[in-house]
Amino acid sequence: MKVKLLDGNIKEYQKPISIKDIASNLGVSLGKSVVGAYVNKIPVDLDYVVEKDIELELITNKSDDKYDLFINHTSALLTAFAINDIFGAKIAQTFYKKDGEEFAVTFEVEPRIGLDELEKIQNKVNEYLANNDKINIEYVDLETATKILKNNEYQLFLAKKQFAELNYVTIYSLNNLKIVNIQPIITDLKHIKAIRVQQLTGSYWLDDAKNIMLQRVHGMGADSLKELNSKIALIEDRKSRDHRTINKRLNIFGFDNLIGAGLPLWLPNGVIIKDEIKKYLKEKEWEYDYIQVQTPIMGTVDLYKTSGHWDHYREDMFQPFNGGRGSEEQFVLKPMSCPHHVSLYKQEQRSYRDLPLRMAEHALQHRYESSGSLTGLERVRAMELTDSHIFVRPDQVKEEFKNVYKLVQEALKGLKIEIDYVSFSVRDPEDKEKYFQDDEMWNHAEEELENVLKDLKLNYTKMVGEAAFYGPKLDIQIKTAQNHEVTISTIQLDFLLPRKFDATYVDQHQKLQRPIMIHRGLVGTYERLVAIILEQTNGILPLWLSPTQVEIIPIGDDKNFEYADKLRDKFKNEFIRSHIDLRDERLAWKIREAQIHKIPYQLVIGDEETKNNTITYRQYASEEEITMPTSEFITKIMKEIKERQ
Ligand code: ATP
Ligand code: ZN
Repeated sequence: MKVKLLDGNIKEYQKPISIKDIASNLGVSLGKSVVGAYVNKIPVDLDYVVEKDIELELITNKSDDKYDLFINHTSALLTAFAINDIFGAKIAQTFYKKDGEEFAVTFEVEPRIGLDELEKIQNKVNEYLANNDKINIEYVDLETATKILKNNEYQLFLAKKQFAELNYVTIYSLNNLKIVNIQPIITDLKHIKAIRVQQLTGSYWLDDAKNIMLQRVHGMGADSLKELNSKIALIEDRKSRDHRTINKRLNIFGFDNLIGAGLPLWLPNGVIIKDEIKKYLKEKEWEYDYIQVQTPIMGTVDLYKTSGHWDHYREDMFQPFNGGRGSEEQFVLKPMSCPHHVSLYKQEQRSYRDLPLRMAEHALQHRYESSGSLTGLERVRAMELTDSHIFVRPDQVKEEFKNVYKLVQEALKGLKIEIDYVSFSVRDPEDKEKYFQDDEMWNHAEEELENVLKDLKLNYTKMVGEAAFYGPKLDIQIKTAQNHEVTISTIQLDFLLPRKFDATYVDQHQKLQRPIMIHRGLVGTYERLVAIILEQTNGILPLWLSPTQVEIIPIGDDKNFEYADKLRDKFKNEFIRSHIDLRDERLAWKIREAQIHKIPYQLVIGDEETKNNTITYRQYASEEEITMPTSEFITKIMKEIKERQ
């Protein structure tokens, strides 16, 4: 049998041979440093026996990312063994999330374990490492696996899944416990030097809220203590930059399970930020000749059947409901406004002179995202999209697409958003379920869009299978503090919906023609946008977006407090948002407080200021104190706000 190595070399073996023996056979040092392998791109353990022709990639303790993957799967498995050992818990699943640099183990146990018990798990895991315990591997058929795992429905489910994919089930055991772990591990524990068990959360089995709520322990593994510490530092840093952490200081949004997961409450500070951004975006839309429309947050199921959402997008929608009173009518909460906007377009017979018709709506929409994917404001179930649908003639597509791109670019620039990359998302022609089937339409739309991108001289990454069901799109991608890649703005080309709704315009020769639709999310949803802004600014909002722009700190006697009140009124008259700190604390403490809350201007009001009708300010993160007449300060700050600094 032939084993083809990564460098193209081919080795021949006469009888079945394990990965470990192949590595030793290739070189003594390779035999020592090998930890696992990929056989035909599927990861396997060292004990895996090769019986037929394969392609082989050996993973050694120098293989960085892939080595890290093996370490963390092994660490997860050891943690699972420990949780079972100590609490007799039923182990459900082990994971490794590469972008979070974390492993996790989900399990079921009665009574549930508490945070204070993490230390016990940690000690047990350390014990396994110190003893250099041996993990055993068996490769069995489904029947044997079913016997071994009969008391654990989670493991049985995973065993079946593995068997369906690989035609064998891998059972790992330590002491008396046997676990299926789909990802391979490093059996020789000397390659793992440090594991940190560090967090306890709840999670639904398979991340589905219909399933039982399990407990989940998180952790990290590394090949040295130094590496582990630097990973922990990285995670800590990410956590501190996470918009959910920043929100604790700034009070922008909240959630309540009684209202429902993923349904955000915008607190007063959040509403200020959102309204300011909205004002800005509507001004930009005005500049680019958009009209503003408003449509309801629901529609009939028939509307979404007509648009095709019912066939291709139903999974992501809240399920239908009726209005009551014995009515048969079925409604859904809208996941997108596109069908509503086509309907608005059709309220009149449009002519070629009416196009492009640019319809904007800052629209509430609802999507039933999986509970496991909900992430603060970044991924929610109720959201307001900076949406638009533009109806154009075929000869206007290119020009208008460029126009839209320019607007998106300007808006992002105005909000100082840092872009990661631009993705040209096309359909996966094999995916018959997700995409509307019409090869000619797709080829045409994708070609048309790609030409525009070339004209724009854009650097883009082509992503297959990321298109919307009705057409290709241009997505603007951002990297979040948690290293997630998310879309902020999106521009999509659509030949389908106008056809489905029979939307038309009258051309120069009085003939009916079909318009083309461009869907555009200017800066995505306000929810995701605010999450991104908080993370990219680390909560240090620009003046124009700051909920409190000026913190007034009066010191000394009453007349200074009265003067502070007058100042506040003056600011209020000019729509400058200020707040007086009346707390009975020392000046240094109040200034520190204002700094923690990232307030752009702090005014200290003492006898001199009151007497001279001046103010003394210092800016966020600056030590410098500047005194100027009040009127001059108001002119200065109003100018800065107007310029959206
Ligand atoms: P994603 O791939 O992020 O789920 P999508 O491709 O389904 O998004 P679109 O239908 O293009 O997204 O939605 C437009 C924009 O709305 C996205 O670019 C994103 O900014 C935002 N968005 C989509 N889903 C959510 C959500 N669940 N929570 C917050 N914002 C969202
Ligand atoms: Zn749309």
